[in-house]
Amino acid sequence: MTLSYQVIDVPFEYRHTCWFCGEPYYESHSFMASPNYDQQTLPILVPCCQECFSLCKSIKVSGLDILRDKVKEQLHRKYEKHLQIGINWTKEELEDCEFEGKALEGFKESAWAMYEIAKGRVNYAGWPLAIDGQPMASFSSAFHVQFDGVTYTSLQHAVEQLAKAYAIPQPYLEEVIEVVGREKLAYAIRFAKTTYGYSAQERMASIASLRALLAEEQALSMPMTTPSSGIDVPLADIREFILHRTVMPAVATQWLFKHGVTTLQQLADQEDAFFAHFGQDSEFTAFTYFNAMQIYLEQRELDMQWAKEHDPNQAWFAKL
Ligand SMILES: [Zn+2]
Repeated sequence: MTLSYQVIDVPFEYRHTCWFCGEPYYESHSFMASPNYDQQTLPILVPCCQECFSLCKSIKVSGLDILRDKVKEQLHRKYEKHLQIGINWTKEELEDCEFEGKALEGFKESAWAMYEIAKGRVNYAGWPLAIDGQPMASFSSAFHVQFDGVTYTSLQHAVEQLAKAYAIPQPYLEEVIEVVGREKLAYAIRFAKTTYGYSAQERMASIASLRALLAEEQALSMPMTTPSSGIDVPLADIREFILHRTVMPAVATQWLFKHGVTTLQQLADQEDAFFAHFGQDSEFTAFTYFNAMQIYLEQRELDMQWAKEHDPNQAWFAKL
């Protein structure tokens, strides 16, 4: 008999558990990629709780990792108020707080528990997906962002939620993050919260002073950010591979090595040189290559273990 679907492997300790959020099992979602880039032939059954099961129904995506992220985003939205409890209070503050009236006392009793449950569900990482013992490839959490103990599916997602939670205008927060860099999210939020002021001019002035401050800091730590001298690597010795559905062209990787570029910042600094070099072929090629190299370097920065153990060109990066 031929099966008309595939079932993901469920380790013993996870049976009766939702793969998305860790709540008790209700029913399996039958996942079929749409658009179907990877030529999936059979639906894959993924265990769900009642809530995630109903969320999955209306989501059409090309991969299970994207489905998971979309489910998490909807859980974030649905439990936004609960998650904000942890932003507005600490457990101790809540306990010490003198609430008066029945409704408020009720809030005090249950608030922290609601926060912890919501946090547990959005942070829940599931278990590694495999079918008949074969791990499913290209499964990535590389874009996930952690802030204050809560996981967000991407920087964009974190910014949307945190801007709301801290009552910071989102475009302003985005602007600040662009200046300070995504790895300094906490700093960006602190800065945005204390400076967003009353008028557009005041905001522009804050951003300008932040830029000046960072430029000063960068000047002091220049040796850290200057690319190393670079090495010439023969094209044949560079592996071309696919990362997040994008080809990492060997010629573009070779350019990184030649110019000693190992970080996103260094790539950004040499953007003009990059486009001048590859733009000779065509603007489109240059853009495609640049985009690929951004994905490549971002992956290396976000997932250092991947860089060390799985990057096929790690040996060359290690020489820089
Ligand atoms: Zn669930």
